[in-house]
Amino acid sequence: MLDPRDGYRYGQNVSQNLLCTLEWGVGDTHGMVSLVGAGPGDPGLITVKGLEALRAADVVVYDLLANPRLLNEARADAELICVGKRGGCHTMRQEEINALLVAKGREGKRVCRLKGGDPFVFGRGGEEALELARAGVPFEVVPGVTAGVAAPAYAGIPVTHRGCTSSVAFITGHEDPTKESSGLDWGKLATGVGTLVFYMGVKRLADTVAQLVAHGLPPDTPAALVHWGTMPMQRTATGTLGDIVERAAGLEPPAIFIVGKVVGLREELRWFETRPLFGRCVVVTRSRAQASDLCAQLEELGADVIEMPTIRIEPPESFDPLDEAIAELHLFDWVVFTSVNGVDSFFARLDAMGKDSRALPCVATIGPATAERLLAHGIRTDCQPAKFTGADLVEALTALVPVAGRRILLPRAADTPETVRKGLQDAGAEVAEVEAYRTVVAASADEETGTASWRVVRRLGAGEVDFVTFTSSSTVRGFVEAVGRERAASLPASTRFVSIGPVTSQTARELGLTVAAEAVEHTIPGLVATLLALARAQLSHEEVDPG
Ligand code: SAH
Repeated sequence: MLDPRDGYRYGQNVSQNLLCTLEWGVGDTHGMVSLVGAGPGDPGLITVKGLEALRAADVVVYDLLANPRLLNEARADAELICVGKRGGCHTMRQEEINALLVAKGREGKRVCRLKGGDPFVFGRGGEEALELARAGVPFEVVPGVTAGVAAPAYAGIPVTHRGCTSSVAFITGHEDPTKESSGLDWGKLATGVGTLVFYMGVKRLADTVAQLVAHGLPPDTPAALVHWGTMPMQRTATGTLGDIVERAAGLEPPAIFIVGKVVGLREELRWFETRPLFGRCVVVTRSRAQASDLCAQLEELGADVIEMPTIRIEPPESFDPLDEAIAELHLFDWVVFTSVNGVDSFFARLDAMGKDSRALPCVATIGPATAERLLAHGIRTDCQPAKFTGADLVEALTALVPVAGRRILLPRAADTPETVRKGLQDAGAEVAEVEAYRTVVAASADEETGTASWRVVRRLGAGEVDFVTFTSSSTVRGFVEAVGRERAASLPASTRFVSIGPVTSQTARELGLTVAAEAVEHTIPGLVATLLALARAQLSHEEVDPG
């Protein structure tokens, strides 16, 4: 039996000779180049093994066809080298890329060569691998999901289908089909293969179609062109060989051209482009650490999500007040948590002081996410209002127990509204409010031209954003700070601000923004539901009045 832990698995990619001389394993200092398929665009379509190689890499050499979001997975200290063609980054010739991989490998680096789709499908991965093999640099190949399968799949086109076609060909559409030297046998392709999938075919689409028809494919053969498949900006044109050139006019590279009966299945199978938020661009203004759940929910619904972390969560200037309160926790009757961040910070200090959840008195929470985080610490909330605002919490708590004379601890951010403290004090409680964390507003985007925020500002200005979501007053303040007050208040009318609840909406209005909608339930799922309702309403409006 082979034990996968003994390092043998690497032997599949290097010669036995190397395996003997290089002694793989713990403490290994030899270089290794992983040629990794990043998938066609949707960052979820990288393989588990590819992701592991990316996370472990000292150096990441990437193309622009690989989704840049994947780079967030690289180590913070990894060297990132762009060798792609678009997006203003320097283009490296293939020989230079080959030489770079060999050099980094020889330096003893773990290199992740991140390539769009699959490395060996029209990706020149074979050339890179040959170069590494000849230089004696150990390498591995991590196959990827190729665009020729994935883009059709996301367009609702299976590349093979029983009764439709039992063969598929991947073809370069790059070659000049009219040239004598064309390596393609058009006659055989046109008549001998079921589904034809062309890569790099936009520029020569008309020539390709003409060749196929000239070599025997009927003009009524179904055909489709999928631009940026698997991405929120995916666009698909369908038709027949007779009219696809005309129908696909305006679709630019990168695109996959599919010819064959299977294209007809799209009508029933298109699943991606019919998602309720498909084609909508949504800006998420939460802190990076907290944005992911909202982003994931929106992406699941098909939205093009832009993360714009307008705030950062940081420790307070001093933990002393919180620590003192925790030291005297037995003197409190209640602890009221107003946010997940408050819970996290409180329990971190509790732990630092050698205490645990058993030290807590009764607890109250404003929203279900906060209650859930508490539960993760083994504490079930004793008071949770049916609606999730500070005022509702005060009402619920005062209805539950006579708070007069009770000592209540309120760990929270410095600049949160006074509703809870005032409400409880007015009811006669003795409230100790301590700073548990700070929300720091991000800087103005103009100060750092070229940053992610600045790019969002540009897209906002161009009217490309449909919704901006606010999950707290501090995200509103951070957004206005980043975009600039005047610009924020005069964005194109097609951009709509959506808020999680009344306090956040109020802050937005105070800062000159028009709130298009407020979540009925003041939670992240509530906010998502509101976006869905807005998008649906807009859609039906457009259907009635296409102008
Ligand atoms: N190695 C890649 C292909 C690189 S060749 C792979 O396996 O997918 C570049 C061509 O791939 C583009 O011209 C386009 O035809 C296609 N392509 C790559 N990503 C694509 C995408 N997301 N949508 C449509 N076509 C894509």
